[in-house]
Amino acid sequence: MDFKFDTVEEEFRSEVRKFIDKELPWNWREEDLDAEDEVDSIKVMEFKKKLGEQGWLTMAWPTKYGGQSATHMRQVVFNEEMAYRGIPAGDAGVRMVGPILMLYGTDEQKEQFLPKIANAEINWSQGYSEPDSGSDLASLQTRAVEDGDDFVVSGSKIWNSAHAGSDWMFMLVRTDPDAPKHRGISFVLSELETDGVTVERIPMMWEAYRGLVTFDNVRVPKKNL
Ligand SMILES: Cc1cc2nc3c(=O)[nH]c(=O)nc-3n(C[C@H](O)[C@H](O)[C@H](O)COP(=O)(O)OP(=O)(O)OC[C@H]3O[C@@H](n4cnc5c(N)ncnc54)[C@H](O)[C@@H]3O)c2cc1C
Repeated sequence: MDFKFDTVEEEFRSEVRKFIDKELPWNWREEDLDAEDEVDSIKVMEFKKKLGEQGWLTMAWPTKYGGQSATHMRQVVFNEEMAYRGIPAGDAGVRMVGPILMLYGTDEQKEQFLPKIANAEINWSQGYSEPDSGSDLASLQTRAVEDGDDFVVSGSKIWNSAHAGSDWMFMLVRTDPDAPKHRGISFVLSELETDGVTVERIPMMWEAYRGLVTFDNVRVPKKNL
């Protein structure tokens, strides 16, 4: 069996290489950049925007959601070239939020978020872990209480990238405290520039930081569930 890439795939590889040579303003590995650092994350977002303009950031997405329905081999070629240069080309929006919205989101959510994810217009933060909830994620305590058209969210999310310019957090919150602990948990999208949200930096052992976000009675519209 011949495992070689075909001509079209190799042509695409050349196109990606030329693009990187022209557009990549830094050498990720040599400069030791951290995608979750306040300053470095700006560079990453700028480069992701360029990938977004090519449609490459979301090439795996179906065309009906603005992707390219790329073949697996085309994705392999792209990911190989990104990995070879150490470029963080994927992100939580592309890999996690987008596909979840395609499966479970409302039409309004798809319209609001998918194009922005594809164009790297949102810097997402992942809000799963809490100070007292790590591997045992079902023990999470952040509460979301229904109040009119909103949820009122209180609790803390830790180890995330919120300190590094994140605009939105996709987060797990407890909406039914009476359900067994692995149930009664909901997935909501929360804008971080909102009253009651505090972002602190936690120093890591390798001269970097991660975020601790506290939600103090933060109103999150129910339409973001
Ligand atoms: C650099 C960094 C970035 C991160 N980014 C994010 C992020 O963006 N968003 C986010 O939500 N989270 C993030 N995390 C959190 C990460 O996913 C958690 O660290 C992880 O869920 C583990 O939780 P914990 O650190 O509280 O460890 P614990 O759950 O306290 O586990 C400690 C140790 O005990 C072991 N252990 C736990 N339970 C058991 C068991 N039942 N049996 C046997 N062994 C067990 C674990 O394997 C581990 O070795 C990040 C973490 C780090 C270090």
